[in-house]
Amino acid sequence: MILRQGTLVTLDPPTVERTDLRIEGDSVAERGPRLRPGPGEEVLDLEGALVMPGLVNAHTHLYSALARGMPGPGEPPGSFVEILEKVWWRLDRALDEASVRLSGLVGAIEAARSGTTTLFDHHASPSFVEGSLATLRGAVEEVGLRSVLCYETTDRNGLGGRDAGISENRAFLGGGPTSLTRGMVGAHASFTLSDESLDLLARATADFGSAVHVHVAEDRCDVEDCRRRSGAGVVERLREHGLLGNGALLVHCVHLTTDELRHAHDAGAWLVHCPRSNMNNAVGRAPTAAFRRAALGTDGLDEDMLAEARAAFLGMRDAGRADAGGAALALLVGGLRLAGAFFGLPLGRLDAAAPADLVVLDYRPPTPLTTENLPGHLLFGLDRSHVRSTMVAGRFVLRDRRITGVDEGDVFARARRAAEALWRRMA
Ligand SMILES: [Zn+2]
Repeated sequence: MILRQGTLVTLDPPTVERTDLRIEGDSVAERGPRLRPGPGEEVLDLEGALVMPGLVNAHTHLYSALARGMPGPGEPPGSFVEILEKVWWRLDRALDEASVRLSGLVGAIEAARSGTTTLFDHHASPSFVEGSLATLRGAVEEVGLRSVLCYETTDRNGLGGRDAGISENRAFLGGGPTSLTRGMVGAHASFTLSDESLDLLARATADFGSAVHVHVAEDRCDVEDCRRRSGAGVVERLREHGLLGNGALLVHCVHLTTDELRHAHDAGAWLVHCPRSNMNNAVGRAPTAAFRRAALGTDGLDEDMLAEARAAFLGMRDAGRADAGGAALALLVGGLRLAGAFFGLPLGRLDAAAPADLVVLDYRPPTPLTTENLPGHLLFGLDRSHVRSTMVAGRFVLRDRRITGVDEGDVFARARRAAEALWRRMA
């Protein structure tokens, strides 16, 4: 297939060029002006529409897809821990196999509609642990997206619950990757995991050559709990238990010191910044000026990376940073590099031999769009309403604003019924 006359935009490095792309199989085969179609080859005339690499959500919770509009708890939560206890831990306990599958389908559809092609998911469903990751993979692959999945291990549901979580991570990793899906070892957070639990998680990462995906210092309570338990900070505690290296995903890092961030970077960890979630939970502002190897995550609010990038930018501006535009762009680029490392593919490129993970946007800028002013268009102009088509590994998962892999109307109708039943179980 030839994508003719698109305005090709890359972020790493920033480039803007009007040219053609040939897609063959799951990859880009050729890039250049006026490509000639082979016999029977399909030609899609883009007439200048923007073509951009698919974006990466480095931390989400697909299980929260059925929480939108959910009635709040009777008494409003007074702290971060109360938000977890009164909202999210009641929700995840009420999830069953059907609602996990529908959450995966709804989240993946919304990701495709937002131009997000890879999801790093952190899953919890304590009443349906065994097989939950395979269920989620089935749903995300049916829509056609890439994902890196793990089960959020925690001590909060007793030792049985903890062991079930570790077993689920092991079973999923043991099943091996597919072309679209990888696994990690999921851990909730330092403040809900004993030393023994951390050691068991570390053994799982070592046994499968994998890494941990964990919330770190999201709220002060995690840092204070860690000092009480170990006399050290969260990064040090993870390091002591062998969980810091090999591409560990440390999410939030709101209350880490500059030294702790340096140790995390030196160990090879990735940091994930979730600005909208941090604002929503009023946990504080992450020290992003000291973030180096970092990406953006939505923490389950939605799957919209353009919205998250804009919030990151505005948060950094509000903190007085003059370099916020470049820094927000660097976080989107970080996501592409992170996903590229996990899949062993040059994600984020739009030239020969790159995987065909891309988004077509109906964006007709009212001002010139150039390599130099690309951050201005990304942060002030583009949003998910411009997403016309989304391709993953050479296959359109969204084409001309229609989801191709599943019947979206039917999925959403079933999701609305499942959400009502889920909210009743929680009450
Ligand atoms: Zn999270």
